[in-house]
Amino acid sequence: MNLMKVNRIVLFQLLFIGFLLINSRQQTQAANTYPGSITNYRPTFLPVLDQQERLHLVIRLFNQNRELHALLVDPYSLATSRAKFSTLKLRKSAASKNLPGYFSWKEIEDTPYMRLIRHCTSTPNLLQNDGIKHALGSVNGFFLTVDMCPSSNPFEKEFFHKLANLMPNSAPFEVGISMSGLWMLGHPQEFAWLCEQHSQGRLRITWINHTFRHLYFKDLPLEKNFMRFNPIMMDTLANSLFIEASLQDEELIAEQLLLEHGQLPSVFFRFPGLVSDKALIRCLGNLGLIPLGVDAWLAKGEIPQPGSIILVHGNGNEKPGITKMMAWLDKKDVRWLPLSYLAHDRKGFP
Ligand SMILES: [Zn+2]
Repeated sequence: MNLMKVNRIVLFQLLFIGFLLINSRQQTQAANTYPGSITNYRPTFLPVLDQQERLHLVIRLFNQNRELHALLVDPYSLATSRAKFSTLKLRKSAASKNLPGYFSWKEIEDTPYMRLIRHCTSTPNLLQNDGIKHALGSVNGFFLTVDMCPSSNPFEKEFFHKLANLMPNSAPFEVGISMSGLWMLGHPQEFAWLCEQHSQGRLRITWINHTFRHLYFKDLPLEKNFMRFNPIMMDTLANSLFIEASLQDEELIAEQLLLEHGQLPSVFFRFPGLVSDKALIRCLGNLGLIPLGVDAWLAKGEIPQPGSIILVHGNGNEKPGITKMMAWLDKKDVRWLPLSYLAHDRKGFP
């Protein structure tokens, strides 16, 4: 073997080792981006008790770090939480051999959470702005929701900074943010900043699911656009099944992304473009989610009343709404409420 040949072999070996090192570093970086990658994320419906014997409903199951986890809803407060499945009690303490700790449907269906889902699935279906638009009962305050549809614009920095600094030395500012997966992935630093404001107690963000893709075509009518989009002509039943399957995919991927970034999805959902239909509303109810409509879209000149769900866009796509909202934020004695208060009704629940 001559010296040239040896040098060439050594060079190839070095290149190969280099390739392996670079490749393994890329894999490590990918793993570090999502330190607790989630697998098998799936919907379910299961009443359980927590360690304090309080009723919760498991609405998702998933695997993370080789353990089974649950996403839970407190059906009285509408708050979500997550827990290792092994910590949950699956039956009540058995009073006798004849009563092996089963839950009754009655105790679940009378909760504010189930009543709100029934309310949203039983109303006449609208092409646009279906779902809850206003608090069910009389409340003294407003609900601010900020949509983050995919956008190539930077987010509304001045607006978000104002929100985060509005309540110095007191409770965090209550805001619902409708997050689309594509905005999250396209604006990682701005998303990280929002999460930081939440963890540092300046904002209390309720993450509203706004789907993963938020698919939209500028040349299609509303009836065939957003979540009603189907690339193939189908009969009514097949079309309903197709868009229901799409919705489930979209919704679960967006939730999974939030969890992988250490955030907690809520039970609230906003349809892209506020466009839905009967099949989509029914599917959403089966996923345990509550569709949020709007009764004060500021950019359209709608005036908020107490109990109103206000909509602005924080993705840089709708400046007039943000300008109006900035003026509203300067008003004194305005109460901003968490979305869970939407379930307050005249009977005083929750
Ligand atoms: Zn949107």
